[in-house]
Amino acid sequence: MKPFVYNALPARVIFGGTLSQLAQEVKRLGCSKALILTTPQQIKEGEDARAHLRELAVGVCNDATMHTPTHVTNSAVELANKLACDCLVAIGGGSTTGLAKAIALRTDLPQIVVPTTYAGSEATPIIGQTENGQKTTQKTLKVLPEVILYDVSLTLTLPPQMTITSGFNAIAHAVEALYSPESNPIIDSLAEQGISSIARSLPRIIKSPNDTDARSDALFGAWACGTCLGAVGMALHHKLCHTLGGSFNLPHAETHTIILPHAMAYNAPYAPEAMAKISRALGTETVGKSAAQEIFDLAKLLGAPISLKELGLREEDLDRAADIAAGNPYPNPAALERDKLRKLLGNAWAGNRPE
Ligand code: NAD
Repeated sequence: MKPFVYNALPARVIFGGTLSQLAQEVKRLGCSKALILTTPQQIKEGEDARAHLRELAVGVCNDATMHTPTHVTNSAVELANKLACDCLVAIGGGSTTGLAKAIALRTDLPQIVVPTTYAGSEATPIIGQTENGQKTTQKTLKVLPEVILYDVSLTLTLPPQMTITSGFNAIAHAVEALYSPESNPIIDSLAEQGISSIARSLPRIIKSPNDTDARSDALFGAWACGTCLGAVGMALHHKLCHTLGGSFNLPHAETHTIILPHAMAYNAPYAPEAMAKISRALGTETVGKSAAQEIFDLAKLLGAPISLKELGLREEDLDRAADIAAGNPYPNPAALERDKLRKLLGNAWAGNRPE
């Protein structure tokens, strides 16, 4: 076995929970004044949490926004100070978790996160923030949520398209963990479990969106994949998505869904063991397709967007995107060559199936 280092992250994770457990979790942290965070689209969920917390809730902030803009964080920190809250309860997807993390970064307040998508941010010590149109990320234990409470009933409202793209966002974390220079047997095993859970549950969820067994399987997969993202470094796929989201304002989960098979095809010749593990996790090691083709076919079959063109990216932007992606070196199985990256982006723009 190759030598490895594994940094376990401290977290309390509750699977199969419900909002009714929030009060005991707040008390368990030694707290009594929770500020609830959510988005304008999930006000009802925020109010449900307040009803369960009763006198333990001191307020609700519905302002969470994609990409964690600092002006939203600053107002939320002001509110947290004004209410003298002693903990945060975030209910929502990666954007809401991002707001909780941004407040925790500035105040050290403990966080209870109730995820309602499969983005996996709840399991990572990573925070992305946007100021003056620039998104920067940092890794610090200060933002790692203390408690994750998975309540599957809150995911039943996730629309089919978001369910699929959020699921592929999760799979992308596990895929890149498998070929990370920091990969290790613990994370490899979680990555395979995460890919399997998401890939087998998505078709079931699309057929029956209220299938709580399938939705629970997907939530477990989201946690497993998010744990991979939090534990080891990511590579080409995440950098490309960061470039496309940050510089071209493309939507997060959809961009991940489109880029993933192309990034996998780019790296496949240099990461054969990782690709074999992905095929095994997908249950397709004997069907004569590459892991990248299988991911592309699954996304297409489920009705996900498969081209950057569909997201509104202009063809003339591809050169600049390739320049940015090639300009900033980082560890990746295949060498980062500008012309090859331009070709990858061209294929993703057109929605071509990887060869
Ligand atoms: P999101 O949180 O932006 O949610 C999108 C919309 O869907 C919001 O309006 C939200 O309220 C709504 N929504 C969420 N769950 C719902 C549900 N169950 N039913 C109905 N509506 C629901 O989307 P996301 O993809 O979860 O998060 C994307 C953000 O998370 C990006 O900014 C990304 O950078 C960040 N992220 C961060 C990390 C990290 O480790 N720091 C990891 C993954 C994603």
